[in-house]
Amino acid sequence: MARLDLMITNGRILTETGSMHASIGVKAGKIAFIGDSRALPPAEEIIDASNKIVMPGVIDSHVHLELPVGRTVSCDDFASGSVAAAFGGVTTLIDFATQKRGGSLLEAIAERRGVAQAKSAVDFSLHCAITHWNDRVRKEMTKVVRQGISSFKLYMIYAERGWMADDGMLFECFEQASKLGAVIGLHAENPHIISTLVRRAVVTRKKGAIQHALTRPDFTEAEAVQRAIYLASLWDARVHIFHLSTAEGCAIVEEWQSQGYPATAETCPQFLTLTDSLLKGRYGHRYATCPPLRSHDDNEYLWEALEMGSVQTLATDHCSFTRKQKDTWQGDFRKMLFGLPGIETLLPIVFTHGLMAGRIDETTFVRSLCANPAMIFGLYPRKGTIRVGSDADIIVIDPEREVTIKPQRLHMRCDYSPYDGWKLRGFPGLTVLRGRVIQKDGEFLGDQGDGIFIKRNPEVAF
Ligand SMILES: [Zn+2]
Repeated sequence: MARLDLMITNGRILTETGSMHASIGVKAGKIAFIGDSRALPPAEEIIDASNKIVMPGVIDSHVHLELPVGRTVSCDDFASGSVAAAFGGVTTLIDFATQKRGGSLLEAIAERRGVAQAKSAVDFSLHCAITHWNDRVRKEMTKVVRQGISSFKLYMIYAERGWMADDGMLFECFEQASKLGAVIGLHAENPHIISTLVRRAVVTRKKGAIQHALTRPDFTEAEAVQRAIYLASLWDARVHIFHLSTAEGCAIVEEWQSQGYPATAETCPQFLTLTDSLLKGRYGHRYATCPPLRSHDDNEYLWEALEMGSVQTLATDHCSFTRKQKDTWQGDFRKMLFGLPGIETLLPIVFTHGLMAGRIDETTFVRSLCANPAMIFGLYPRKGTIRVGSDADIIVIDPEREVTIKPQRLHMRCDYSPYDGWKLRGFPGLTVLRGRVIQKDGEFLGDQGDGIFIKRNPEVAF
């Protein structure tokens, strides 16, 4: 038998179906063997994972690196963002290629792909965000899917950024996506009621950061979730709700699922562990994200939904700005920059506050971070699992090792963290990307530009 490149021995392997004590052999970037280490051929490098957890690399299926917003750009680019990802155990990230007003989808993808390819240290893909609709765009969707991008994103808000899809556009996009087997992910909020409430707040001179939450009450998310899934259902189209933040919105997703409609949903660490009370502090504007942080009850509801399987994926919506960038808001909630950092802390937060806290079990943990995003977005079983033939994207965690979060010790360019001072377990001591060790014991061993674009197929695996 041929010599292996790498062997990870005697760890407790977690997958989406269960756990086992075994060793993993890696050859040419793929998982070649799983079994007793004594039965495996010799390897170039052997890593002892006794008393450690071994699991698939995390897929962060929702990130915005170097995103231009207004006159600025989010502070983590594909270089710093992907290095932070490696330290956080994320081996694949999915960013967005956003259509320019009236522009071509394929051009947007080619441009964004070039930017990511030059810098990314982990594997990547892109969701195609459609902002403008016509027959040419409809035809282009077919070509986009053929290029290996099997998911589209529509924003039901953000008219001011030129991104908003109205109901007619939703209707037609779902029609076309259904023919292609592609999934449409939504930013689901009702823009009209929100602008009415924003106007009312401003008239009464209420401009503090907390107004961001108060002008986007739960029903503005729930209504949009309902409308999105209803319109998708007219075409039997696949629909995925991004960054679900409220119990009320989640209950709508669950209602459709209980009727047999396979809508899927994502939530994010910030909607599981942070609340809108943070918006009231002096630096409340630094916690602005969209949708806004919600209540403790919403946090708990979403944890339960995750464990029950009605919310399938966990991702970060990583969109970071420095304190200096965030502080340009001029005391007016309408001018706040939306977005939080999170790619490096995703896994440890879910490990500590989900798995260790007993809110979710091991299979839910691996499913929501690895297998489910892989299945929904067409990466499975190449990514998101540990099995023979899959890419050797593997992380090793010492469950006893605790880290106190300090922004300066993280690797992202963002200079603050909403989790500053939190004690977290679950940071991987080893990150392997396609068989190559890219992070070991806190040292980055990868290379920018080594991440590759992963083609995704639209066949429904979920
Ligand atoms: Zn987003």
